[in-house]
Amino acid sequence: MRRLLTFLGVAILLTIALGVGYTGWKISRSRAAHVCAICSRPVHPESKVVGFVEEQRGVYCCPACALTAHRQTGKPVRLVALTDYETKTELRPEQAYIVQDSDVNPCARAGALVDETNTPHQVHFDRCSPSYLAFAHRSAAESFIEKHGGKLMRFEELAPGYHH
Ligand SMILES: [Zn+2]
Repeated sequence: MRRLLTFLGVAILLTIALGVGYTGWKISRSRAAHVCAICSRPVHPESKVVGFVEEQRGVYCCPACALTAHRQTGKPVRLVALTDYETKTELRPEQAYIVQDSDVNPCARAGALVDETNTPHQVHFDRCSPSYLAFAHRSAAESFIEKHGGKLMRFEELAPGYHH
């Protein structure tokens, strides 16, 4: 009887420990999925990019950042999914129309930077600049450009050899 109780006690403790460990693992995993693998900025649902650096899966905040992964790591990068800006759904890179350098950049901090003399600051380098947004349809990309400027290109022109 005593041995049975000890066994039950150990079993219950183990179950609790596993549960706590699993919850912690789940939290850290979901956090990792919301932060860009390159710049650690939050990943925006409208510009998320999924890719592989060698066999390691990474989630990036925007196509510009994902494309610097190769420069930063020196390893081959394969992008498997972009996001359609309009519907926030996954988009295969070879189907994507890219709008480059519009006035919308989800990664840029909100509002212009202003220094103490009230002069607006120009940000000289940002790895997420110029902005790249992906669209599933040419017509959606073109009407976006009418409102926000930018240049239309196919993903293949932007990053030849980045998907297979
Ligand atoms: Zn990033």
